[in-house]
Amino acid sequence: MNEIEDKILKTLYLLENEKEKFSDEKFLKYCETVKTNIIKAFKEGNFTEDEAKTLLNRVNKLLDLSEKKIITHEYEEDTKICPKCDTKNRANANFCRKCGYDLR
Ligand SMILES: [Zn+2]
Repeated sequence: MNEIEDKILKTLYLLENEKEKFSDEKFLKYCETVKTNIIKAFKEGNFTEDEAKTLLNRVNKLLDLSEKKIITHEYEEDTKICPKCDTKNRANANFCRKCGYDLR
């Protein structure tokens, strides 16, 4: 295994297993960097097409997860929790969608 492969695999492993060490922004940035490096390594002949595809799929999986996480996070910030029944409502909701409690 050459140095580039080793570096890519180590970074990928880190992203997959120690996600909590990164901020969302850094995580996305590292994922993009790993993707770029995989493609570069493939073009330079360090990976076969299958190897490159497998690795890219692993990164894509991570990106999907973290994009969902970010979306959920934003959604949660933009909600009103009903004090009566704990249901999540849109931030601009006037009444709870479940119990009708006045949220204004
Ligand atoms: Zn309610």
